[in-house]
Amino acid sequence: MWFRLVILMLIIGIIPVVVIRETILSGNELRAVSARSDNLLGSTKRVAGDIGKSGFFDSGYDLVIEGEITQLADFYEGRAFVVNTEHKIIFDTQGGNEDMVREYISPEYTKALKGSPEVVTDTKGGRVICACPIKVKDSKEETAIKGVLVVAGSLDRVLLDTKEARDKTLIYLVCICLVVVLLILLTAFWYMIPMRNFKREALNFAEGYEDELKDVGGYAELSEITGALNEAVARFKRQDESRDEFVSNVSHELKTPITSMKVLADSLLAQPEVPSELYREFLSDIAREIDRENNIITNLLTLVRLDNKEMFEVKSVNINDLLEFILKTLRPIATQHNIELMMESFRPVIAEVDEAKLNTALTNLIENGVKYNKEGGYVHVTLNADHQYFYVRIEDSGIGIPESELENIFERFYRVDKSHSKEISGTGLGLAIVKNIILLHRGSIKVNSTPGEGSTFNVMIPLTYVK
Ligand code: ADP
Repeated sequence: MWFRLVILMLIIGIIPVVVIRETILSGNELRAVSARSDNLLGSTKRVAGDIGKSGFFDSGYDLVIEGEITQLADFYEGRAFVVNTEHKIIFDTQGGNEDMVREYISPEYTKALKGSPEVVTDTKGGRVICACPIKVKDSKEETAIKGVLVVAGSLDRVLLDTKEARDKTLIYLVCICLVVVLLILLTAFWYMIPMRNFKREALNFAEGYEDELKDVGGYAELSEITGALNEAVARFKRQDESRDEFVSNVSHELKTPITSMKVLADSLLAQPEVPSELYREFLSDIAREIDRENNIITNLLTLVRLDNKEMFEVKSVNINDLLEFILKTLRPIATQHNIELMMESFRPVIAEVDEAKLNTALTNLIENGVKYNKEGGYVHVTLNADHQYFYVRIEDSGIGIPESELENIFERFYRVDKSHSKEISGTGLGLAIVKNIILLHRGSIKVNSTPGEGSTFNVMIPLTYVK
């Protein structure tokens, strides 16, 4: 991170300085070259006018004009020559020939012959070439183009000035860059101090030297990360503790039927002659304990499977049919205890649910209504829905649950009254399974109960499954 930060700051700090310097220098160079070209054009035009007014083309020579042309060439540190319309050099400050004309000015020269002055800047070649038509008036005052004055001026001085400026500013640039680099290194170092502290604390924490990750301060984000990590660790610890508690509960619950069976078997073995009725009685007790053990294991497996999200198969299910089916299955047990089992549906409900799991949850709730009921009591199941949710209400006239116990009944292995638990078989895992299944469907479950009068469980589940 430190390295990336430095590189980023270098890019942000140095590139603009280099770009600004280059833009200013290039602008200055352009302005200087353009001023030189403008001056050359003005001077060339003036001398071309003087040549036109003199009799240079008639006589073939004119010392004053030749002097003026030579002065012009000297001033611009280059050469100047006059070409006539037949492309012949009439005068050249360096005594050249037609090839030179071609080499220097062919396109400009041709344009100038048509009447307009031309300037071409050749920065790479270090020169600026200007071609001006020489217009001569005849006796009838009519103007004719008799030739072209071409001046090739040097740009060396201008380019040298710019190069000097470049060299000078390069020194400044290097100095600025060094200062910027130093500042960047210092800033990055300072900026990274809280990060380094955080890393040290995190390593200590990971090694197990500290129970909690210490807040090193510095940046609000670091404090937030520290808080989030501490929260996550606390959650893991809680999960660990609850897992340990669960394992010890499971062991205890699994041991209880085994201990009973052992006691029953031992007491049979301890007696030399046991009447067959006693054998039958003890064996039926052992069979009951085996059923209990089996129930606990089945419920535990159901709970474990619920944690596996991949085994959640959602499809459109007719909830009315599902409830009818559950009631049909439970009716024989209800009839056994003379309990009335009724269902009322306000509308047909189709919902996206895992049919098998919802079946388990609703069966558990309705079965509890029957199990924890009184002789001649009732269990009423009501189904309703709105545009978002469907609601199942299971109301019984049973023994009820004390208010202080209501918040615990969904915990694993929790059974309200240990004394009635002996008569009514159960594992204390049913409601934990119910709650898990309903939460998997993104639903909720609430319970109201009055001891001695009955309980009502209200289940609410979305019609459409939300992942
Ligand atoms: P169990 O296997 O013991 O029925 P549950 O998890 O289904 O386990 O229920 C936990 C406890 O909540 C039960 O032992 C019982 O005491 C109480 N309980 C559940 N449903 C009812 C109900 N409809 N009426 C009264 N008590 C109930």
